[in-house]
Amino acid sequence: MASDCLFCKIIAGDIPSNEVYSDDDVYAFYDINPATPTHVLIIPKKHLTDINEANLEDTALLGKLLLKANEIAASLGLTQDGFRYVINTGKNGGQTVFHLHLHILGGRALGWPPG
Ligand code: 5GP
Ligand code: ZN
Repeated sequence: MASDCLFCKIIAGDIPSNEVYSDDDVYAFYDINPATPTHVLIIPKKHLTDINEANLEDTALLGKLLLKANEIAASLGLTQDGFRYVINTGKNGGQTVFHLHLHILGGRALGWPPG
């Protein structure tokens, strides 16, 4: 837990969130400012600032993050029509919260390339 991290505070329950899924390793919750009709964030409970901070010790954790995201996408009815995963990283990636998170975006057709 990083004491100055917004998402660590959400994991700890110090800041409220709308939970979608939780277990010992990952937490998923609805984005407060949804960019798509369905917009969920899934995060590791371990504080990692961004994807660059992960290393091979985190292989199982990152695999679980992706596979749980698949389960969540399915449970929210996104699988048939499709969806998008996004991991914004650093300044050019548009990252605003510095605790690794995977966006699960769905519910409408998404444009490409990103802005
Ligand atoms: P980033 O731009 O870092 O990839 O995404 C951060 C995301 O966190 C944004 O989509 C933003 O709306 C979301 N967010 C920021 N603060 C909060 C909050 O307090 N609660 C929730 N549920 N989402 C948040
Ligand atoms: Zn954190």
